[in-house]
Formats: sequence, C-alpha cells, structure tokens
Amino acid sequence: MALPRKQERKKFGSGEILQEAAPPLASDLSSCLEDIKRTWQRTNNNIAGLWQDWPKIAGEPLASNCSPISLRRGVLLIGVKHPQWLQALQYNRPQLLARLRAQGHEIKDLRIQQYQPKATKKVLESEQSIWAKHPSRIDVHGISKCTKCSSPSPAGELAMWGMCGFCRCKTILSSNH
Ligand SMILES: [Zn+2]
Repeated sequence: MALPRKQERKKFGSGEILQEAAPPLASDLSSCLEDIKRTWQRTNNNIAGLWQDWPKIAGEPLASNCSPISLRRGVLLIGVKHPQWLQALQYNRPQLLARLRAQGHEIKDLRIQQYQPKATKKVLESEQSIWAKHPSRIDVHGISKCTKCSSPSPAGELAMWGMCGFCRCKTILSSNH
C-alpha cells in the first residue's frame, strides 16, 4: 500500500518543475523497512533465520563462498560464486541437508546454482563508458579557452555547456536563487 505523496514545486532553470516531495524520514523509513521485512519473511518462509544460521550450518570456507538465495515450498536454492565451490557443495549436499534439518529448518530439497552478481558488473562498465566520454577529460577533448572567464578549460566542457565546468556550476547555482 503506497501512500500518495505530496508534490512540490521546484525551480528549474528559469521555470519550475513539479517534483515528488521527499518523504518525511525516520518514522516513515523504519515502518517501510518493517513492511519490507514482513513481506520478505512471508514470501521466503524463514530464510532470514537461515541466513543467520548459515555460517554455523555450512561452516567455513563454504559459508563465505555459497549463500542461500531463496526458500520456496521447502526447496532451498543456494548460490555459488565459483564453479569449484559448486562441486564442493554438491559433494557436501547430504551433510548440509542433514545439518539444516538438525537446526530446525524444514528443507525438503537443496538446489545449487552458480550465481554471478552481473548487475554490479554492468554498472561498473557503464560508469567506465560515461567517464570515457566525460566532457572534463582533457586527454580526450583537448584544451580551449572558456568564453565566460577566459581560463583554459577542457574543450569537451565548452562544447557541451558553452562554458567551463566552474562557470556552469556558478550559473546553475545563481539560477536557483
Ligand atoms: Zn569559465
């Protein structure tokens, strides 16, 4: 259940834009976190408890190389970072299952999946490509004179904003007042 949020007017350049008002912090944030936690626990049974017990159940070094991803209808899915740990986990599967049950987790079956945090890699790649085209890079764009303050500035900045980055910041700040 999402509460309708107030909109507030914000100055943008010479005009105004409507923007969602920031939610009041503290109480709203903690109740939101509680909601997430409850939903999470409902959909994932007792996986939260399982995460807490995981280092004890799996033992090192298994615990830090494999982690429970989801628990649905008694089937526990375990993610493994590297193929060699996939094998180790397959090998330890019967003991792991026994230990999970001994700790009171109702697990019918274990499934093991290689898990790669692809999202993180994508973000890094896009950050790199953004930087490759960044207007403040002198080595790519060369250097030129700012039309406003006449100081030597990256040509990429002048091409993008018609002024250097410093002048652009001053312009943005002064238009906000
Ligand atoms: Zn300038």
